[in-house]
Amino acid sequence: MLEVKDGQCGLCAHFGETHAPTAQLTKIRQQHEAPETLLDDCGHPRHASLHLKVTPIAKCDGFEPAKAA
Ligand code: SF4
Repeated sequence: MLEVKDGQCGLCAHFGETHAPTAQLTKIRQQHEAPETLLDDCGHPRHASLHLKVTPIAKCDGFEPAKAA
């Protein structure tokens, strides 16, 4: 498992934003840990049309904190 820190995709509201929330995503936001192999969509308006896929530990300046469910 990878530790996911503030400012990284796994804790960003845009991570996986293009689909319904999954139990895995909720768990990442609660526990700040994610599997090494996970990739998901970035739904940020400036990335979505490019179908950018990111890992939970990637990051960019478009970060917006997700609500931990
Ligand atoms: S690439 Fe940027 S906007 Fe997209 S999920 Fe990661 S931090 Fe959020």
